[in-house]
Amino acid sequence: MVLIYNLFYMLNQNPTATTKPTPRPVFYDNDADMSVLSGKTVAVIGYGAQGRAQARMMHQSGVNVVVGLRPTGKSWAVATADGLVIRSVSEAVQMADIVHILIPDETQKEVYDTEIAPFMTKDKIMSFSHGFNIVYKQILPPANMGVIMVAPKAPGTEEYKVYQEGFGVPALFSVRQENETNTARSVAMAMCKAMYFTKAGIMEATFEEETYEDLFGEQAVLCGGLTELIKAGFDTLVEAGYPEEFAYFECLHEAKLIVDLLYQGGTQKMWEVVSNTAEYGGQSRAKRIITDETRAEMKKILKEVESGEFAEEYLQEMRDNKMAKMLAYRKAEGDHQLEITGTRIRSMFKKMRD
Ligand code: NDP
Ligand code: MG
Repeated sequence: MVLIYNLFYMLNQNPTATTKPTPRPVFYDNDADMSVLSGKTVAVIGYGAQGRAQARMMHQSGVNVVVGLRPTGKSWAVATADGLVIRSVSEAVQMADIVHILIPDETQKEVYDTEIAPFMTKDKIMSFSHGFNIVYKQILPPANMGVIMVAPKAPGTEEYKVYQEGFGVPALFSVRQENETNTARSVAMAMCKAMYFTKAGIMEATFEEETYEDLFGEQAVLCGGLTELIKAGFDTLVEAGYPEEFAYFECLHEAKLIVDLLYQGGTQKMWEVVSNTAEYGGQSRAKRIITDETRAEMKKILKEVESGEFAEEYLQEMRDNKMAKMLAYRKAEGDHQLEITGTRIRSMFKKMRD
């Protein structure tokens, strides 16, 4: 019986298993205690999309924050203007009890090896907002060191905007390794509370779960899937002779209105608000767009993420290939008629509003 239970439990813990996972608890403000951060210093390494938002939110919530940056970089002036304490990465690590690494994933290993690891002691906690470098074994933390993740489910600008409104975005948190004093988990939850994530609700994940589903989501649905769907719709209309402006409004601009409805109340709310014509037309055609073949490809993309194949390709592109493919993608995207039309339309709108 115990064996069966254990097997069932293991299946539930495996993100690739087909059995339905047991629901996880959601933690709120009352479940987290910020006092574990009192007298402690959090070094936020990097001041980009996540670093700027997270450093400011923690600082404004009364946490002792030091930002770790390279003195030659552009962010130094931005963090100075925001009124934060800034040091070089190695100095910030030395001052810190918690080292929250928020520089791009592909740069973390090198910065960790040269400027962070030599100054980490086992009483310090290492923290991330994405599990990439731990899961794909780029960063190998020493045993007995606390290793945690606080991963907001939003872009940095959105996090900060919601925080200023007095609410928070939802987040995942994770403990890879507890520290000797067993405080790593409560520190992760306290950081979530400082950034108001516990106002929305936080859930505990493994590093693997967060990493795999985050990469899959951005590749197949949010960033890759959605933009390609928009571009394909735009191209279809334009190639058939419809004005580019109409195609832009229909396929890109209105996407926001639909996503807002999905965000507020799920697919049913969206179907309720759009016309019956849109509902019937959409429902009866949807599976001709997202076909069994598309779903099979999604499964392949997930496997590439889980096996580490994607991570290897990405690191090779960023380090050895010097971003050649990325730069080519950026150029192709900028040259696409959708972007040219969109830039013109958005600037017209802006002029009208200003
Ligand atoms: P960014 O690309 O915005 O980070 C840029 C920052 O990193 C800048 O402050 C830059 O400083 C600094 N930086 C870059 N290289 C170095 C270096 N060698 N030494 C010191 N500082 C350096 O990163 P993101 O915020 O997008 O991502 C950070 C982490 O958050 C990643 O793990 C990512 O997966 C995760 N994440 C990101 C989300 C997002 O919305 N972008 C959402 C959730 C998680 P400088 O000005 O000197 O170049
Ligand atoms: Mg991501």
